[in-house]
Amino acid sequence: MTKKRQDARPIVPEHIALLNPYVPGKPLSELERELGITGAIKLASNENPLGPSPKARDAMVQVAEYAHFYPDGAAFEFKRSVAKYTQVDVTEVVTGNGSNELLTLIARTFCVPGDHAVISDYSFIAYRVIMQAANLTWTSVATRRDYATDVDAMIAAVRDDTRLLFVANPNNPTGTHLKAREVRRILEEVPEHVIVVFDEAYHEYVQDPEYASALSMRSVRELLVVTRTFSKVFGLGGARAGFAIAPAFMADYMTRVREPFNVNALAQAAAIAALDDEDFVCRSVEANESGRLVLAEGLLALSDLGVIFTPSQTNFLLIETPYSGRDVYDVMLRQGVIVRPMGGYGLPRALRITIGTREQCERCLRALRQAVLAQQ
Ligand SMILES: *Cc1c(COP(=O)(O)O)cnc(C)c1O
Repeated sequence: MTKKRQDARPIVPEHIALLNPYVPGKPLSELERELGITGAIKLASNENPLGPSPKARDAMVQVAEYAHFYPDGAAFEFKRSVAKYTQVDVTEVVTGNGSNELLTLIARTFCVPGDHAVISDYSFIAYRVIMQAANLTWTSVATRRDYATDVDAMIAAVRDDTRLLFVANPNNPTGTHLKAREVRRILEEVPEHVIVVFDEAYHEYVQDPEYASALSMRSVRELLVVTRTFSKVFGLGGARAGFAIAPAFMADYMTRVREPFNVNALAQAAAIAALDDEDFVCRSVEANESGRLVLAEGLLALSDLGVIFTPSQTNFLLIETPYSGRDVYDVMLRQGVIVRPMGGYGLPRALRITIGTREQCERCLRALRQAVLAQQ
């Protein structure tokens, strides 16, 4: 018999009871099992259709031989590679099990329950999970009509008790990005007691000459943390590696809080090799540019069915149809195409489509067309 615990206190605090879990993209293996098919495609998690960098793959195979050894807990070589890549001091680098962990680590390191944070509507949903788990309060600021982050409103939402301000640049799932002068305004005008977090997961994809990383403006502001990931253009979502750049004193606190072996040995080796594979990054960005053209042109051809999309420099497009995104998604699933419905983001008619290879984009467009027609 289980023990009665009627009078006991709830098993979790209220802020944990209220936590909505992050819902990842549906795995290919799951869909294929459910439908009894093979050859499905996944355009749901902004993964690189070219796979991992070959150098990273080889590095992982080599390190597999030594998998009985713990990883380098200090991640010495990994941090050195990141410092070289980003042209910062090695003391300013924090390693993470993907950048998601680094975002969590920021809240765990710098916040106490009740602290206030500022985010934008339709920004990366992980921020909400992280803020709720850390028992923060927050203001989510409306975007502009074109889904672009409203810089003025973000700055205006900061209060005396605001501790964190998260900006995804470019943003997921809208695909919009801020221009350099807007980034600078945030860094200059947000009161200096606030830790500004720039999440730059899609940095390498952006071709707009008016865009700039917040890393290029670090002299403007002390309390700035910039996060990057190996999950997108570097093709290593499954390996789990990311990094944050912060002033050395902040990086030191974050490193004390993080798990000692948070980036495993295979991921460290893969990340180091991926940073060294400029050719792969170039090819990935080029493939993404041409895939985006295919997808965007195909979407324009569906505009008479009410399909619209938000322009983007990333490896995904946010689209909207006149119908429930969930229903369109379900019909696409049955054709073996996994995209991402956006109801959880407060965009019930939207879907996010990762830019795949040309063939994948074309197959996705056919499935989308059928799915939209099926709603009429
Ligand atoms: C994909 C993504 C991340 C990266 O997550 P990882 O934990 O590094 O895989 C971070 N921020 C945004 C906005 C993303 O889209």
